[in-house]
Amino acid sequence: MPVAGGETKERGGNEENLEETVNEVLDIHPAQLQCGGCSKNISDRYFLKAMDEYWHEDCLSCDLCGCRLGEVGRHLYSKYGRKLCKRDYLRLFGKDGICCACGKRIRAYEMMMRSLDKVFHLDCFKCFTCNKNFCVGDKYVLLENTIFCDNDIPEFRELISDD
Ligand SMILES: [Zn+2]
Ligand SMILES: [Zn+2]
Ligand SMILES: [Zn+2]
Ligand SMILES: [Zn+2]
Repeated sequence: MPVAGGETKERGGNEENLEETVNEVLDIHPAQLQCGGCSKNISDRYFLKAMDEYWHEDCLSCDLCGCRLGEVGRHLYSKYGRKLCKRDYLRLFGKDGICCACGKRIRAYEMMMRSLDKVFHLDCFKCFTCNKNFCVGDKYVLLENTIFCDNDIPEFRELISDD
């Protein structure tokens, strides 16, 4: 009987390797650099590198919704030379999944629970026995498409060992 278990992790959809990491640059003199956004020289002491270009902190934003991407360690996505925030990237290019519990579509930008190759709506990811919803880090056991919480795991173990 295949049993998957582990700790719940939150994540938002399918991430391909188009992810770029925003980096802080300290070792080049900023007067030599041009901003990839406004094309002006970067004279600030603080600037960023992403997608092989340098940016003023305020010039690095999502091309679609305009949200700020200019934070160190923040991920941005590049596609067709455009820079996108994670939500917009997943909305446009992410692959939708099918929830294993309710059978309905999960849009790629929605938060979902993932266990092995299965995905669930956050709301659908709950214990079959007590209906409890899970928080990140909670333990669960997944049997086929049925989820059991930590409290119900001991009983559940007995159930399958009796088999
Ligand atoms: Zn700029
Ligand atoms: Zn955006
Ligand atoms: Zn669902
Ligand atoms: Zn339970």
